[in-house]
Amino acid sequence: MYGMHYRLNAVLYKDNFDEKKKLINFAKYNNTQISIGYAVPPVDKINPSNKDIYFSHQDKEKLQEIINYLLLKINTGYPIIDPDSYFENIFRFLNRERFWECNYPTRYGWINIAPNGKIRSCTKKMDEMDINFLELDTNSIKKTRKQMKKNLKICNAECYSNCAYDSSYYVHNKFQLAKKIISRLSG
Ligand code: SF4
Repeated sequence: MYGMHYRLNAVLYKDNFDEKKKLINFAKYNNTQISIGYAVPPVDKINPSNKDIYFSHQDKEKLQEIINYLLLKINTGYPIIDPDSYFENIFRFLNRERFWECNYPTRYGWINIAPNGKIRSCTKKMDEMDINFLELDTNSIKKTRKQMKKNLKICNAECYSNCAYDSSYYVHNKFQLAKKIISRLSG
């Protein structure tokens, strides 16, 4: 659109699915990739949040309806980036199972840097690790990843980031990534 390359990221709250449907149709019409993540409560529990927007076990029917709709769209070539399992596994997240692999501590993960130059273990937590980006070397990168992996024991069951989920999923499921690209091109 207008000669720009862009993609959309949508957040799914409890009561905004009708709006998301419009965005999904917009993405299809404009052949633009869209990722859709479930809104989940903040990991740190300190930041205030409006609790009414999050899905819970009471929303099972509504969630199933959303999942069915999204899978149908994915299977008919809509350019939704996230894998089927991200949507389907929301029930496991609601059970607070520790089942998905976060991309941050892997060699494919991203590095986020705070304004003071310290490394953040992730943008959701907005924390600062005791290491400066400019001082990173091969050895400290390994140590940083190890520490990030350790930190996951605390945050992973409380977080369901589609970005962190998708990246790790597609690294380990390249066939699914290829399928997704083919489906988009032929959709
Ligand atoms: S699971 Fe990953 S993305 Fe989520 S809070 Fe932890 S480090 Fe961040």
